[in-house]
This record gives sequence, structure tokens and C-alpha cells, in this order.
Amino acid sequence: MDHKDLVKKVFYLSMRDKIRIQLCEDALSSKIPSEELEAVIVDSLKNGIDSARQIKAQFHEKTIAEIVESHEIKLDYVDMMTQEDFTSIGSFELPNHILINQGLVKKQGTFFQESEINFLTFDYWKEIVLAHEFFHYLQEKDKGMFVNNYQVSVWGKVPFGPKSKLEVLSEIAANAFAQELLELIDYPGLIDMILVFPCYPERMALKLEKALKKIE
Ligand SMILES: [Zn+2]
Repeated sequence: MDHKDLVKKVFYLSMRDKIRIQLCEDALSSKIPSEELEAVIVDSLKNGIDSARQIKAQFHEKTIAEIVESHEIKLDYVDMMTQEDFTSIGSFELPNHILINQGLVKKQGTFFQESEINFLTFDYWKEIVLAHEFFHYLQEKDKGMFVNNYQVSVWGKVPFGPKSKLEVLSEIAANAFAQELLELIDYPGLIDMILVFPCYPERMALKLEKALKKIE
């Protein structure tokens, strides 16, 4: 498939398909008992949506940048290191620092401008990343959240075996938060892969095609 068609296809996948791919990316998610999976997804999404509704009720018409500022969070636009296996589009650092990888814009070149998802400019995606990272800040403040507490047994059904939290659930919640807060039509899952695509097109094409096969 043509690279631009491939990226567009991934961008417009349904929320459920994006979540299935996100779960496949986290090896530990296979440890979620199948009878719990649906409830785990619903509860993770609910954490994000409920938090966004609370913020909206509190801040009404404020922009995400204004909301972040009112929480005394330090916001920096930086040029983060780009690596083939791991490129961040943004990050949250404790206790109150959000970084957005503005350096990515140069590396994206004209890929998105020349595609059918040409609205994916920095002004558009920085809001999504900012909202996503702001959820991670809220998540730190509210230890009772489902995504902070759900654990899987690393060794399967062995009683008293080691347990682990699942990072992917926080990612699902953070994306749901961004979607609800910014009133986005499309769930912004996988946007990290999409935004990094033009930096490593051949490699990312293989990765996305492999991901799409998993949900066929
Ligand atoms: Zn995240």
C-alpha cells in the first residue's frame, strides 16, 4: 500500500481497532483474562472520559494550554531525540513538567501536507499531545483511578505470583481524555506511530502493516 494511504487508513481506524492494536503492542496485555478484557477497556476509557468531563465543567471554554497553565505545569516545546525504535511525541515528567516534541515537525517534512490528512499540522497535534500528557499529570494526583490499580498476574494463574500494572491502560485513558476534552471525532490512539511515520517511512510501514494484520 502507498505510504500516504497506509497512514490515512490507520488514522481513520475505529476506536476499537486502534485499542486492539495498542493492546497488541504491550506484551503484558495478553495476561488480561479474556473474560475481563471488555470491562478493562471500558473502565480505562471511563477514567479518561470522566476526568475530561470534570475538567470541562471546571474550566468551561478555556483552551488546553490555559488549563495546563492554571495547574502551574511547566510546558516546553523541545527537539527530542529521534530513534528508530522509540520516538516520543511528548512526555510528562513528575511533578509538573510537560514536553512536546516540536523538533518532529522538521523531520516530518511535507509528508502530511501532501496527504489527505493534511490537517495534521503542529497546531493540530500539539493540542492532542498536550491533553494526553495532562491526563498523566491528573493520573498522578488521583491514585484511586482504575488505570493506576488494575494489575495482571505475570505468571498467569499462579496464585500469589508477581503482578504488574499495564502502561497501555493509561495510554488508552489518556487518549480518551484528549478525545473528550478536545471534542475530536477520531480517537487519537496510534497518533504517535502516525506522527513518527515520515521519519522512518520504510520501517514504520512494516510496523503498521503488521499491526493491521493483527486486527483483520
Ligand atoms: Zn501517554
